Amino acid sequence: MKAVLYEAFGEAPSVRTVPDPAPPPEGVVVKVEATGLCRSDWHGWMGHDPDIRLPHVPGHELAGTVAAVGAGVTRWKEGDRVTVPFVAGCGRCFECTSGNHQVCEHQYQPGFTAWGSYAEYVALDFADTNLVALPPDMEFATAASLGCRFVTSFRAVVDQARTGPGEWVAIHGCGGVGLSAIMIASAMGANVVAVDLTDDKLDLATKLGAVATVNATRTPRVVAAVKEITDGGAHVSIDALGHPTTCYNSISNLRRRGRHVQVGLMLGEHSKPQIPMAKVIAHELEIRGSHGMQAFRYQAMMEMIRAGKLRPERLLGRRISLDEAPAALMAMDDFEAVGIGVIDRF
Ligand SMILES: [Zn+2]
Ligand SMILES: [Zn+2]
Repeated sequence: MKAVLYEAFGEAPSVRTVPDPAPPPEGVVVKVEATGLCRSDWHGWMGHDPDIRLPHVPGHELAGTVAAVGAGVTRWKEGDRVTVPFVAGCGRCFECTSGNHQVCEHQYQPGFTAWGSYAEYVALDFADTNLVALPPDMEFATAASLGCRFVTSFRAVVDQARTGPGEWVAIHGCGGVGLSAIMIASAMGANVVAVDLTDDKLDLATKLGAVATVNATRTPRVVAAVKEITDGGAHVSIDALGHPTTCYNSISNLRRRGRHVQVGLMLGEHSKPQIPMAKVIAHELEIRGSHGMQAFRYQAMMEMIRAGKLRPERLLGRRISLDEAPAALMAMDDFEAVGIGVIDRF
């Protein structure tokens, strides 16, 4: 099969012919029909993820058709249209049996702990626990865009932040995660303030439901601006970018007893950000992480998509071929395109 492969961190990946994967005993092989371009893939390529063993094939936001099934799989068959959360739980450890597959102790992550979906085929372990059937009318590109950023945002807004109608929600960073969170929080009846450095992303944020925007290039005092718009501070604030500045601002612009959720990854030099801990104590702030979403929680999200309240297809950005993927991966830190980019030609 064709796959994007790199042999050393930070060295140019290339499209190669590599052996086709075989299904694990409890897993499947999926013929990849679409796979998202995510900044986590860039982090992996840079060597920021200790799970990656070289040589490596990136890619973790995917949708496709089941092409082969392991002997122990009971729920899936060849030809099924599926997607998968980027964290696939083992289904057996304490976290999985308590319903928290997103923090499984033995988690399988295509594109990190194993070869990923920048390829014609990808193997996925623990299929019965983690595969999600696609609605017949959902396009593969839309389904692929759900697997990492959209579901992590859904869990952040709905399950981790417990966002309620009428609450103020500040979203710092309007990339794929931030735009997803804006759409989801607006659908939950919250009032969203979007923060970013560029007007084109803030324009899209407004189209997706944000009621106010802050351009941090023109507004140096972001925290004060959010507090003014929200009349005292946001109830919920999300760092959707993953940077010491956005993390600090997100916690600092909360009102008393506000909830911060960290969704953007903090890796490498950014792994130890400053936290205004005195304020966390005095104002009883909550700080939580959000890491993927369990496959069983997709049902609630899919019902909101079916009802037309969430329209993830509106977040799709450019579509490229596998041959264009190495250049796109390497350029990801310099320039983040508007919306979620997808590889849909192999
Ligand atoms: Zn991702
Ligand atoms: Zn587990």
